[in-house]
Amino acid sequence: MNVRFWGVRGSIAVSGADFAATGGNTSCVAVEAEGHLMVLDGGTGLRALGASLGFVPVNMTICFSHVHWDHIQGVPFFAPFFHPGSRVRVLGARRDGSGVREALAAQMRPPTFPITLDALRARLEFEDVNPGATLEIGPFKVSTCEVPHPDGAMSWRVEERTRAFVYATDVEHAAAPDARFLRFCEGAGLLAHDAQYTDEEYARSRGWGHSTWRTAVDVARQAGVERLALFHHDPTRNDAGVAQLEAFASRERAGVFAAREGLRVAL
Ligand SMILES: [Zn+2]
Ligand SMILES: [Zn+2]
Repeated sequence: MNVRFWGVRGSIAVSGADFAATGGNTSCVAVEAEGHLMVLDGGTGLRALGASLGFVPVNMTICFSHVHWDHIQGVPFFAPFFHPGSRVRVLGARRDGSGVREALAAQMRPPTFPITLDALRARLEFEDVNPGATLEIGPFKVSTCEVPHPDGAMSWRVEERTRAFVYATDVEHAAAPDARFLRFCEGAGLLAHDAQYTDEEYARSRGWGHSTWRTAVDVARQAGVERLALFHHDPTRNDAGVAQLEAFASRERAGVFAAREGLRVAL
């Protein structure tokens, strides 16, 4: 399977020369195998993925970790969603009686947006996924794990043949990552893990639902993953800052790198 990062930023999109090497788009990662496209989260990176595909019919799946803005704002700008020939499975957890459909509909309506969800001509098939569920998506065997985050979030494990990719963003572990989460990540070839903060930043951002790069490295070590992508970069983190975190983390463990827009990993 091939993994490609289309958006690696957390909280809000950023732009400018200082952010160009890392990329400023919010969370969106594409996984592809045997011609099946599975997308994790629809942050602003989804717009760029759509631009690369064009106004064409697609048969794909999009899975949401949760529906905070930085994970859904690319949806109204994804070109294939406007094609009547597109067929899309849309998966996510239901929270307090409200599913992904309600969240997407709420962000697309006047007066804060000129068109509604109905303007997307694609056939969108919404499915509620209970955290902990396992399912089949095209060639992928997929499992999910609830993680601690304000309003809740779900991590996704995508397996194809003997290889596994784990997408674990927007997670703030308790004192230490719990055994259930470590088992979920066990042996993955690639783990993309929330690494929004340094230790100093975390000290003033407790409870906001994110991890430090050090915690991400701990998870990688304890779960025995091969490669770790530091993900969901803070919007204040410029390219030099990202490179610095990457250098710190690489000293702690081999196979660690900072996720950057456009980066592809073959698993
Ligand atoms: Zn986020
Ligand atoms: Zn969030």
